[in-house]
Amino acid sequence: MIKKKGSAFFLLIIVVCLLAFSLSKLLPITFSGEIPAAEKIPSAGADTEDTYEEENPAYEEENPNSENPGEENAPSQIPETRTDPAEPDPAVPEKNDNHSPQHQYIIEQLSFLQSPIPGALVTSRDSQLPGAPRTYRNGTHEGLDYYDGACGVPIKNGDPVYAAGEGIILRIDHEYTELTEEERSRILQVSGEQEKTPADILDKLRGRQVWIQHSGDIKTIYAHLSGVADLHEGDRVKAGDFIGTIGNSGTSDGVQGTSANSHLHFEIWIGERYLGEGLSAKEARALLKEILE
Ligand SMILES: [Zn+2]
Repeated sequence: MIKKKGSAFFLLIIVVCLLAFSLSKLLPITFSGEIPAAEKIPSAGADTEDTYEEENPAYEEENPNSENPGEENAPSQIPETRTDPAEPDPAVPEKNDNHSPQHQYIIEQLSFLQSPIPGALVTSRDSQLPGAPRTYRNGTHEGLDYYDGACGVPIKNGDPVYAAGEGIILRIDHEYTELTEEERSRILQVSGEQEKTPADILDKLRGRQVWIQHSGDIKTIYAHLSGVADLHEGDRVKAGDFIGTIGNSGTSDGVQGTSANSHLHFEIWIGERYLGEGLSAKEARALLKEILE
């Protein structure tokens, strides 16, 4: 009797094992607890950019082809391709509370600022963040770029730019004269021979600009503008006041007289340091998203 019960139990075990085995073949996702590699959704936009940047250290703002690599082939709404909860993109974190006390302090200091372009998101491309290398001039990108196709809203030449926060106009370039191609080449050559981009050359490369002085030693800079508002140094502006229009002054396209690659270059300064200085792309993006979105 005991023997019979024992072999029946043994048979039952074998049947259960066989069942489990065949089920595991049929339902790999359920049993492995993870999506098989072949079924993972490729994070095309993200990987293309990040890999491109790492593999191309000379990746530069001034070259339209490298600025927007594969733009024609890239999905037009890059941020939307990054919302798959199964595979969050580590380079584009959601807003979170995990900032260091120092970063939390910066966020609080700058919380009065808003995006200078309504509805625009922080760029999806690392090369357009502050801190990105600019090898063509031996320097670093000190601002955040708003380009068409990378910030969630259309960006085109002549579009309005607004004050990111209340403050006083510190500089507004009414009398701007575009560089000539020869002059731009010459200053880039000079810059390339220095340890870092000299301040006067960097200023020329920013083209037509507006600077706003905010409270607490905070300053914002709006560059490559095609035009500026009827405002003057010392005028007070509120957040959202019209200050100028998007352009490409000071860039390689600007000096050639075209409107190609028009974008807003936007800098945030706290004292002598620009926001993003010394930070990784991930950290800079997280801070900027927290402040501007
Ligand atoms: Zn820029």
